[in-house]
Amino acid sequence: MAADATVRCMAAVTTNLVAEAVQRHATSPTVAAALGRTLTGTLLLGSSLKELDRLTVQIIGDGPIGGITAEANARGEVRGYARNPEAEVPLNETGKLDVRAVVGQGMFYVTRESGYDIGLYRDPYRGSVPIVSGEIAEDFAYYLTKSEQIPSAVTLGVLLRAQEAREVFVAAAGGLMIQIMPGASEKIVEAIETSVSRAPQTTRMIREGASPADLLRAALGDIEFEILEEREVSFACPCSHERAVSLISSIDRAELESMLREDKGAVMNCHFCNESYRLNEAELENILKQASSA
Ligand code: ZN
Repeated sequence: MAADATVRCMAAVTTNLVAEAVQRHATSPTVAAALGRTLTGTLLLGSSLKELDRLTVQIIGDGPIGGITAEANARGEVRGYARNPEAEVPLNETGKLDVRAVVGQGMFYVTRESGYDIGLYRDPYRGSVPIVSGEIAEDFAYYLTKSEQIPSAVTLGVLLRAQEAREVFVAAAGGLMIQIMPGASEKIVEAIETSVSRAPQTTRMIREGASPADLLRAALGDIEFEILEEREVSFACPCSHERAVSLISSIDRAELESMLREDKGAVMNCHFCNESYRLNEAELENILKQASSA
């Protein structure tokens, strides 16, 4: 918090969790950048979530990536995926990964849900704006400004190490979000605009060992801030073999029988973390038995 609580800011170093996402989904370099930025932005946007809240960001464009989904909770956990993880496009005119081209044009959606795990489910809040940039950070900023009426500056970055043997290696990832609350002075806003534009590149700072507080210090320049909360962040997915069994149990009986007959089992794949769960013949037979006795 800064400037008498008229400026709210958050920063995150997400190198490890982006590396895990990239490895789990075996993404191309440009998808690694797009997915990593989205995961980081979703965590930052979700930093004020309360226990049992959930935030989902979906970026659905007409580019080859086919869409990105990320979901964060109050515990600093995030999970996400790209529809076409192997999609790739040529570098842009400045020789950088062309995230804008892989995302394309379309819509940016945010869904906020609360109480989803305990049955106290309230109507979710949904907001959407058109994709204005496709570079992701600008899209988060545009969403906050337009849909939630919070003028914001957002920086998101993923730095990849030079590729070897087509393997994508995340050298640094992270970002920051600065939100201007009602009552902020024009002077503060101008000072932030200047200091943000002068701050060194986020991913370069992270590679050199910067902490989230260091990122904020660089972005806020002379403006003092107070750290209210610090939290670990991670890539986490609540899927499990048990959940796969309960999902399969809800499938139509005829379909279950054909899985048993033709495939001698079933394989469930979790979109969010790309984990596969194999159910064997005995497990399927058991599910069918329970269904017929119910
Ligand atoms: Zn999963």
